[in-house]
Amino acid sequence: MSDCLFCKIIDSKIPSTKVYEDGNVIGFKDLHPQALVHVLFVHKRHTRDINEISKNDPVQLTDLFHAIRLFTEKSGAEEHGFRVVTNMGKNAGQTVFHTHLHVLAGESLGHFGA
Ligand code: 5GP
Ligand code: ZN
Repeated sequence: MSDCLFCKIIDSKIPSTKVYEDGNVIGFKDLHPQALVHVLFVHKRHTRDINEISKNDPVQLTDLFHAIRLFTEKSGAEEHGFRVVTNMGKNAGQTVFHTHLHVLAGESLGHFGA
């Protein structure tokens, strides 16, 4: 999608700090990190949100979680633990409408929702 921020990051039209890439997925550092490690994982094929990706092509979810497994194994996040979050729609505060999974790690994250 030509006017999608994350499609532009995927195409390197907007700079980002990429920490993971394979044929299907990239992972890049969030501009406003909420933890010491805060990486956004996005599929290279545009979908709007987690329900659309599940409806259109659920294999893409497997691609995303495969990438997260490889990244967390390699970076050491797996050893100490990490959190995966996705926001869908207005009530959750989704601001970028290209499906993305937040991976938070690198410190104790506290109780979810606290
Ligand atoms: P959402 O609120 O939609 O779940 O998450 C969007 C995330 O994208 C936010 O955490 C925000 O900090 C991040 N973000 C917004 N614009 C940019 C950008 O231009 N570059 C990067 N790396 N992250 C961004
Ligand atoms: Zn997009």
